Amino acid sequence: MSRSHELFQRACRVIPGGVNSPVRACRSVGCEPLFIVSGKGAYITDADGTTYVDYVQSWGPLLLGHAHSAVTRAVVEAAALGTSFGAPCEAEVVLAEMVLEALPNMEMVRMVNSGTEAAMSALRLARGVTGRAKVIKFDGGYHGHGDAFLAAAGSGVATLSIPGTPGVPDAVVADTLLAPYNDLDALRALFERFGKDIAAVIVEPAAGNMGLILPEPGFLQGLRDLCTQAGSLLIMDEVITGFRASYNGAQGRFGLDPDVTVLGKIIGGGLPVGAYAGKRRYMEQIAPLGGIYQAGTLSGNPLAMAAGIAGLKVLKEADYAGLEKRVEELCADLENIFRAKGIDVTVNRLASMFTIFFRHGAVRNFAEAKASDVERWARFYRHARAAGVNMAPSAFEVSMVSFAHGTEDFNALRRAAETFAG
Ligand code: PLP
Repeated sequence: MSRSHELFQRACRVIPGGVNSPVRACRSVGCEPLFIVSGKGAYITDADGTTYVDYVQSWGPLLLGHAHSAVTRAVVEAAALGTSFGAPCEAEVVLAEMVLEALPNMEMVRMVNSGTEAAMSALRLARGVTGRAKVIKFDGGYHGHGDAFLAAAGSGVATLSIPGTPGVPDAVVADTLLAPYNDLDALRALFERFGKDIAAVIVEPAAGNMGLILPEPGFLQGLRDLCTQAGSLLIMDEVITGFRASYNGAQGRFGLDPDVTVLGKIIGGGLPVGAYAGKRRYMEQIAPLGGIYQAGTLSGNPLAMAAGIAGLKVLKEADYAGLEKRVEELCADLENIFRAKGIDVTVNRLASMFTIFFRHGAVRNFAEAKASDVERWARFYRHARAAGVNMAPSAFEVSMVSFAHGTEDFNALRRAAETFAG
């Protein structure tokens, strides 16, 4: 019996599904999860001593790879000075300044503990400042597990085919309006009907929770214009794309000007952090300056801030273009390998992230993502894992590449694709 199996059996007795976040359970790919003991660079090692090339990278935070020396050093040094104060510390100011420097259209930022918390707080802010209730989100968009966002959500909700979430009252999602991603006409129709009641549109500038879906030209700017005309706030959820699409996020890469930005993952360097940033005129309405309440015992935690600062310092000097080029080559090779054997495939890619969709033709929205061959993905996942390559255990997630991935690690995935294609 493997040690991972043994641990999973124990976990299932005391933790729902044996996991603390649903997709990790690997149910949709028909296997049990690996229990991880350690990670270094591009690699993880499980409880049975097997090492894998890791294309999950903790679902995005580890753009520098596992256990980057600058990040771990910063955490250890911070821990020795105290793990939490519940009072301001300098590191909070430094990280806030670094985030705002990278996102020059944002003027103030509040740290929280997860992307979920950040998205919930951003929506409260939008509702508070507009005095309106409705929010538009996109089919397959995922903004954490806050009640208002659990309508047609991506990520684990999509992976496990959960239609609506028990425990979320109808009244709470009644104000959540849905549109297909990349569909400006649908959005226009919603604005025509509900315009004066719409507090915000929340969007992933490149959707990362129905697999990776790229914005079509003009979509995000069209969204910006519709929000401006209706007096609604544009909330850009950059939990995945922040500091990954470029050091300046997707907003820097695509030249966008949202009202509020939701952040997480990379800004915490692998520790639990989220943040929401926005225009000063809105952020000044948050308590204690204004009446919109939001708080947190561990918010701005010194360990998490230290990890975030250390990580961003390295990333600021990193060769994003070089990494992107290597990932572009990898994705082109993967498409060629599968197609050469008659397997329908489309690989969507942005910067250092990609999704392999087993489907012929473009994948531009959740409906097209769902029409991909998820059974084939599950088989590929199992094949790659057996070959020492750890991919995201769902057809609707994104593979993450880090700066630590080298030629041999890319080749390991190429080989897994070749042997799978036959
Ligand atoms: N927003 C996006 C775009 C995400 O991808 C995620 C998580 O994957 C979240 C929000 C929620 O973040 P967290 O899991 O830190 O709560």
